[in-house]
Amino acid sequence: MSLGRRGDATYTRGYLRSPAWFARRREWFRSVEQRRQVVMCLVCRAEGPVDLHHTSYDGVRQEPSGAWVAGEADEDLMPLCRGCHEDLHRELDRRRRDFWGWDRRRASAVIVIGLRRARLGTDRIAASKGRRGWTNR
Ligand SMILES: [Zn+2]
Ligand SMILES: [Zn+2]
Repeated sequence: MSLGRRGDATYTRGYLRSPAWFARRREWFRSVEQRRQVVMCLVCRAEGPVDLHHTSYDGVRQEPSGAWVAGEADEDLMPLCRGCHEDLHRELDRRRRDFWGWDRRRASAVIVIGLRRARLGTDRIAASKGRRGWTNR
């Protein structure tokens, strides 16, 4: 699906407040627990409470009755702490024109990589540049 504003609002105002989504969310956490994985933010690796960002709403649909059906894949749900989640959405909005025609999965992945780099800070980036740098000097 595209990054269209209207599409997003349908999900954020409708689906993300529905019982179907709350149940789906619980199921995601349960499946992570069963695999004995630690829930952490994909960007900053903070452990603790996370939001689940949809990289795609594929599989989510609304019945004619208005009831939502949660059919999204686990892989399309990305654990992010609240701060990183807000940053990601800010970037999605801000760079909407750059991402024109991209699907949300690809745009989300590119932003996560950018946010991770920013979180790493300049120290480690400087260090890795130094290591690579000597052959070029
Ligand atoms: Zn985070
Ligand atoms: Zn999100």
